[in-house]
Amino acid sequence: MKSFTYERARTPAEAAAAVARTPGAKFLAGGTNLLDLMKLEVETPTYLVDVQDLALDRIENTGEGGLRIGALVSNTALSADMRVRRDYGVLARAIQAGASGQLRNKATTAGNLLQRTRCPYFYDTAMPCNKRAPGSGCAAIGGYSRQLAVIGSSDTCIATYPGDMAQAMRVLDATVETVNARGATRAIPIADFHRLPGDKPERDNVLAHGELITAVTLPPPIGGTHLYRKVRDRASYAFALVSVAAVLQRDGTGRVCFGGVAHKPWRVEAAEAVLPKGARAAAAIAFADARPTEAARFKLSLATRTLAAVIAEGKAG
Ligand SMILES: Cc1cc2nc3c(=O)[nH]c(=O)nc-3n(C[C@H](O)[C@H](O)[C@H](O)COP(=O)(O)OP(=O)(O)OC[C@H]3O[C@@H](n4cnc5c(N)ncnc54)[C@H](O)[C@@H]3O)c2cc1C
Ligand code: SF4
Repeated sequence: MKSFTYERARTPAEAAAAVARTPGAKFLAGGTNLLDLMKLEVETPTYLVDVQDLALDRIENTGEGGLRIGALVSNTALSADMRVRRDYGVLARAIQAGASGQLRNKATTAGNLLQRTRCPYFYDTAMPCNKRAPGSGCAAIGGYSRQLAVIGSSDTCIATYPGDMAQAMRVLDATVETVNARGATRAIPIADFHRLPGDKPERDNVLAHGELITAVTLPPPIGGTHLYRKVRDRASYAFALVSVAAVLQRDGTGRVCFGGVAHKPWRVEAAEAVLPKGARAAAAIAFADARPTEAARFKLSLATRTLAAVIAEGKAG
């Protein structure tokens, strides 16, 4: 691991200012992703600003009838919260499908949204990777790509966003709140938060350097049956090949978001409009522009079948 300096910030503004003024600085939350990447020298920050002492670990009711989740609320606390379990079940289920109990105790809401891809070449510093080393090339294109993207990819990167929670946040229309070094705040709809790779695959999201996530806000509950189904190579402790987060209503309408298929949670509202016609019709629209590699093509039928299983579960429940 490369050497680095370390500081514990006392306020959000202080944390944002400390990172903003130092090129190569990063925030440190639970450390479950960043420290792994540092040990492998995939990420080599020169300065870590630890945000764990900031008072951002509360879940509060909002005046509009929703919830405001502090950036440092752990995955365990969020999925155990009675309001989340009652009104936002898709979120509790998606979090519980991820990682392990120990990791969820440390992992934070903000850190989870910002976890980096699990493309094997991103982790292998001997291989070209535009996301890790911009301009070096993409070893996955023409390489091992079975678990990578089928849609929204570019000629520079075909990686997927690996997390579970973000798909639930996307069907719930969450908003990410931030503060920067000047104290200016931003509210970013989750739909606009994660990026497609385009010609800048090194940028996973729209945050500026030194912009700190302070909270994620959920709008009032929308009712319905909340489901999360994750298909993976082994039954636990693995990332999704395909996942589906869904909130389904009795009349067959609903919201769905696919994970494991793109560089961001993949929700297509036009596909939701035909959900009452069934999974095949909805998936045909959601994946109309798919460009899978041969190795990842199976994900298209897997996504359709996973959605069909979710719809069947919704009708049964
Ligand atoms: C073995 C293993 C299995 C896993 N399996 C799954 C899984 O199945 N599903 C899943 O979803 N996840 C899985 N994970 C990933 C895990 O959920 C993430 O590592 C975790 O959520 C990251 O949160 P953290 O608080 O530890 O983030 P950190 O590692 O501390 O930070 C991650 C990134 O977020 C930035 N950051 C942190 N907080 C802020 C903030 N407030 N504002 C701005 N930037 C910030 C950091 O600078 C860093 O770039 C797994 C991890 C491991 C190690
Ligand atoms: S797919 Fe993206 S993350 Fe993977 S090697 Fe190519 S550029 Fe790197």
